[in-house]
Amino acid sequence: MARIQISEMSWVEIREALDRGSRTVVFAVGANEQHGPHLPTSTDSLIGEALASKVTRKLGNALQAPSIIVGCSEPHMMLPGTVSLGPDTLKSLLRDYCLSLARHGFKNIVILPSHGGNFAAVREVTDELNRSLKETRVVAYTDLKGLLSSLAEYSSKYGISANESGAHAGESETSMVLALRKDLVKMEHAEEGFVGSFDDKIELFRNQGVTALSKNGVLGDPRKAEVGKGEEYLERWAERMLDFIRKELDV
Ligand SMILES: [Zn+2]
Repeated sequence: MARIQISEMSWVEIREALDRGSRTVVFAVGANEQHGPHLPTSTDSLIGEALASKVTRKLGNALQAPSIIVGCSEPHMMLPGTVSLGPDTLKSLLRDYCLSLARHGFKNIVILPSHGGNFAAVREVTDELNRSLKETRVVAYTDLKGLLSSLAEYSSKYGISANESGAHAGESETSMVLALRKDLVKMEHAEEGFVGSFDDKIELFRNQGVTALSKNGVLGDPRKAEVGKGEEYLERWAERMLDFIRKELDV
């Protein structure tokens, strides 16, 4: 398989790819934050990296830029291991990051946030970049409700409720990490978290943090997670992103 990750290529190979017309670059914006007693803090970054890689391959004639592996995680700071950027820091980082890619001649930049807390900052900086950049278009999927409802729909095929599928470290994310890095998942510590409606509690979550809802940091119930489901969810999520990108860009 041809290399797609610019971090694994030399500048000569990247120039050749640009000269062949590879003008789309994709990257994920993840997080390093607590994901309950059973998942690694890199959960959102692992998922984002895999998603961006799938989307890049499916697009064809595109390259993948390095993921950003920390994000805006303030509501998780009360549990150890979480490393959080302020929204302005993330926006500055994304601005410089995209301006670098634009200077090399990429015409389309696709940002895939895989962590809900990043969506607002990604949306704001994307709008700003599209006002200032003349030759480059930036697109980002930032519909958090849309994403959570897609994941819930994928889980529902297996009789798993939306609240079990979960907004954070529930069945859907746990299945995806099992599919990617089973060695980092401790299913013996998987336990039910908050299984009410996250929609109704989102303000409480933002203002008081995850432990106001769930002492173990889980929003959902990971106990029905399985490798095969995770593989399917990642594949369907990538297809969904591809549809979105093709609507936004001429690729
Ligand atoms: Zn997550």
